[in-house]
Amino acid sequence: MSSLIHFYQKLDVDFIRGEGCYLWDTSGIRYLDMISGVGVNNLGFSHAELNVEIQEQIQNYIHLSNLFKNSWSEKLSDQLIEITHLHASFFCNSGTEANETAIKIAKLYAYEKNIENPKIIVMNQGFHGRTLGALSATSNQKYKEKFGQLLDDFIFVDFNCIESIFKVIQQHHVCAIMLEPIQGEGGIHIASTLYLKQLRKICDQHKILLILDEIQCGLGRTGYWFYHQRAEIIPDILTIAKGLANGLPIGACLVNQKLNDLLTPGLHGSTFGGNPLACRVALKVLEIIKREELILKNKQKGEYFINQLQSKFTSIHGIKSIRGVGLMIAIELNERIDDISQQFYLQHKILINITQNKIIRLLPSFLITEDDIQYFCQSLYDFIKNQNTNK
Ligand SMILES: *Cc1c(COP(=O)(O)O)cnc(C)c1O
Repeated sequence: MSSLIHFYQKLDVDFIRGEGCYLWDTSGIRYLDMISGVGVNNLGFSHAELNVEIQEQIQNYIHLSNLFKNSWSEKLSDQLIEITHLHASFFCNSGTEANETAIKIAKLYAYEKNIENPKIIVMNQGFHGRTLGALSATSNQKYKEKFGQLLDDFIFVDFNCIESIFKVIQQHHVCAIMLEPIQGEGGIHIASTLYLKQLRKICDQHKILLILDEIQCGLGRTGYWFYHQRAEIIPDILTIAKGLANGLPIGACLVNQKLNDLLTPGLHGSTFGGNPLACRVALKVLEIIKREELILKNKQKGEYFINQLQSKFTSIHGIKSIRGVGLMIAIELNERIDDISQQFYLQHKILINITQNKIIRLLPSFLITEDDIQYFCQSLYDFIKNQNTNK
């Protein structure tokens, strides 16, 4: 029996090694990983170039207090700003912390503007993390109901529905709108380009902050550095985490210039945030994505993947819908299949993740090949067919 708190339903397998998008267990069996640590190991496991960065940095130091200048965090911030056209970054250690930072900045903005009882609009099916603030902004009642009174700053509306935004703005003093351009945990729901443009316009007109959480859909996965760039908009605040340092804990909250002017020493902080090791690796991650043209490749692989899925699964019972952009893909089943991850791993040696009970969420590493994709599609086809005949 494990002495860990039982917060997770874990697969009973002991992986000892990883390389690229494969993992090996103690008996030497190889598994194809379609989850990437839930969108973290974007450049696969044990990446040689990243390993060099890690080894070199630990010879110098791992941690340096934020009381001192740290050139790795400054260089990383410069890179992120170049990519996003935002103005300044704050580094922390996770996605939820990046969102906490964003929420605090929105509240501070409302305070400075003397907005009475300010509200933040967030989305149904949205997910922003597990700390009390980010949880308050998260829609899933199952995650919240046992934790009493959370922040009352948030108003939930339907995703991709601009009318409901207008309604709330008429009734409340709204200081920010916060959303994932592609809802990950919620089951891969994609904001339309028009919706994103409309949000930007409303926010400009009403001096409302647009906060985008690209913790899961950002950093090249969708065929864009950040998915909102498809709509040619710039948010006021952007949160990033997951794949940024390919597995080392890091989160970032980026802000525009006006917001940066409100932020002064003492308002926020983090002991580990911006640590040189994670920042140095993140810098290399960005360099590799650029140099290897992975964003374009992700777009092409995603198109290939969705085509494969659609051509294979149109005539088979059990699949409700297939949707996605780049390497962020959902296969929604008609019905829940119990233990599907376990069965799939045992029968086909492939690791998948299920969200919302019946949505297979695929977040493979950027290193996945067309052969891997074909192998996955054939395996899933066999699996679903088998389910159908066993019914
Ligand atoms: C994973 C995730 C978070 C939370 O990140 P943690 O690092 O687990 O705290 C927040 N927002 C989105 C969109 C996520 O996918």
